[in-house]
Amino acid sequence: MIITNKLKLPEGLVKAVSAERHNQPGCISATTLLQGIKQIILTDRHWEHLEDDVSDRVWAIWGTAVHSLLEQEGEHDFTEQEISYPVGDITVTGRIDNYDMQNGIICDYKTASVWKVKVGDFGDWYKQGMIYAWLLAKNGFTVTKCRFITLLKDHSKSEAARDRQYPVNPVFVYEFDVTFVNLIKIDTFIRNKVREYVRCQELGDNDIPPCTPDERWDKPTKYAVKKDGRKTAVRVLDDKEAAEAMAAELGKGHSVEIRPGESTKCQSYCLCCGFCNYYQDCVKVQDIKAAA
Ligand code: SF4
Repeated sequence: MIITNKLKLPEGLVKAVSAERHNQPGCISATTLLQGIKQIILTDRHWEHLEDDVSDRVWAIWGTAVHSLLEQEGEHDFTEQEISYPVGDITVTGRIDNYDMQNGIICDYKTASVWKVKVGDFGDWYKQGMIYAWLLAKNGFTVTKCRFITLLKDHSKSEAARDRQYPVNPVFVYEFDVTFVNLIKIDTFIRNKVREYVRCQELGDNDIPPCTPDERWDKPTKYAVKKDGRKTAVRVLDDKEAAEAMAAELGKGHSVEIRPGESTKCQSYCLCCGFCNYYQDCVKVQDIKAAA
């Protein structure tokens, strides 16, 4: 991977940025399994040509620093332990921040934005925690709970006082119980994903199906019913026909404004987008149209 330094930041910061491949050949990590298959394979195939800037990787550095500060080994804990289990010819791996062996609790440290907590968007952490629980279970350990200790990097005390939906403290804890049924479900997810990963490795770049809407962090197109002279929409609907019918019923001075959806990850967070035909054919075209 090519690491650029557009802001001419100090050498120490540049050195702290890792440009290492995340997965060894034949291995796939818990966090990689959360990505779309197309992103996983294109990132691997085009690694040498991918480009990122030091300034875009500072939160990753901060995350690493936070990890090394917070991981204290307790009497019955193990920390930063790599654990693995084979699925066919692929080895699934995970590096668990902390596992309290006595109580069967996995603890992971995260940095996140307040937005994530406000919208309750924890699907990725749930899956990550369950994959760790599955790895531990497959290696003979018991897991009862997953806990994510989250440092909110953009927390504001004044916003917390003003907004009832806003997290009260700059540290947020997301946790859930691990059940046998959920271990079975994650086992199915892991095996299906690994099977699809192996199948798609035989395909050319353009033949690999695009990542799913969830994996692309898609936001759907919305239709706002607007009234002349009013700043905010009367209603925002998912369905175009329903919005047009409402505007017609409300009568003169009402209209429908289209608020185009977006594939957030493709547009802003996928380093291999330059090699992805879905991005080139769909997302980039939309971006160019929106900017025109
Ligand atoms: S650009 Fe979008 S669809 Fe293509 S690999 Fe990246 S996330 Fe997946």
